[in-house]
Amino acid sequence: MIYFDNAATTYPKPPQVLAAVGEALVKFGANPGRGSYDMSNATGRMVSATRDKLARFFNCPAPERLVFTSGATASLNIAIKGLLRPGGHVVFSGMEHNAVWRPLKQLEQNGVISLSMVPADSRGRISASAFASALRPETSLLVCLHASNVTGGIMPIAKIGALAKERGIPFLVDASQSAGVLQLDAAAAGIGLLAFSGHKSLYGPMGAGCLYVAPGLELAPLIAGGTGSSSHDWRQPQSYPDHLESGTPNVPGIAGLSAGLDFVLQNGPERIREKNCSNTAWFLRELAGIRRVTVYGPPPEEERVPVITLNIGETDPARAAAILREKHDIAVRAGYHCTPLAHRAVGTGGRGSVRFSLGFYTTREDIERALYAIEKMAG
Ligand code: PMP
Repeated sequence: MIYFDNAATTYPKPPQVLAAVGEALVKFGANPGRGSYDMSNATGRMVSATRDKLARFFNCPAPERLVFTSGATASLNIAIKGLLRPGGHVVFSGMEHNAVWRPLKQLEQNGVISLSMVPADSRGRISASAFASALRPETSLLVCLHASNVTGGIMPIAKIGALAKERGIPFLVDASQSAGVLQLDAAAAGIGLLAFSGHKSLYGPMGAGCLYVAPGLELAPLIAGGTGSSSHDWRQPQSYPDHLESGTPNVPGIAGLSAGLDFVLQNGPERIREKNCSNTAWFLRELAGIRRVTVYGPPPEEERVPVITLNIGETDPARAAAILREKHDIAVRAGYHCTPLAHRAVGTGGRGSVRFSLGFYTTREDIERALYAIEKMAG
């Protein structure tokens, strides 16, 4: 199989990630923070060291406030539902994934909050000044993803973060597609809430992600329960990470995420970015020479994460994906990629698109095979 669905989850995982997940079940097979014996303590230290390492990587000044979740969807729900109060108003981008759009719409439909969407242009770009124009006195949250899972486009989060800082409004960033591939400094970008998954460009296993909550932001916990601390008290602990981390954590997932981040650091985030950029740029250049292929998103000269969304003539995206799979053994994603808003923006609201997303292990030969298949389908 030639794998082009890295935006959904990266595959394969690096060998050290596979090893770390297996080893965790042996070396870290006890609940962290609960027992008073060696293996429980060792597990607690591994979880805590992973938290510190991730916080350093994303420049989150208070590491204990970086909490482990089951993934970006959980992180985004915890942030949105924990922060917003009745009467609140949220300004969000018209490129958001359903992991943001649906919880926001749920709260709106239940009469809790009101919403303003900042529309994207036909290339899926968002302007920070449009965020400024949508602000109201009661605006209580700004939300923008860092990079689009549909177009690969990179959003102006530093500018939106500066606006949020200036107005004292919390800023939530969905970094699912950028964590590990783009430079991301939470403190410098004015990010109050940072959500990401571990299983994409951080090369961890599925089922582990993070939410960072900057000091000063108060979240009501979406999930309450055992934390191994203050167990006599019915109240959820106020201190982090326990405030938002109840129940037995995904220890093998966290160990795998730790090894995934080590893999990124060993290869050099800068080098990985360059490799992605040159492969994506080359793919785009070659696509431009194939007739009947429409590529959506920012112009090819603009930097993007390694995501390419296209359609081939009038071919239905699901049909195109089936041909790619059956005739060429190529795995892509077809349809709406859980992000109907972005498809409306770029003009594919009626049918979606075919998405090729690249990863560390994508080779030039893989891209050549994809180009050959696309060319054949385009006739
Ligand atoms: N946001 C974006 C932009 C995404 O691409 C994804 C993954 N498709 C998510 C959120 C949800 O991530 P997860 O499936 O890890 O919860």
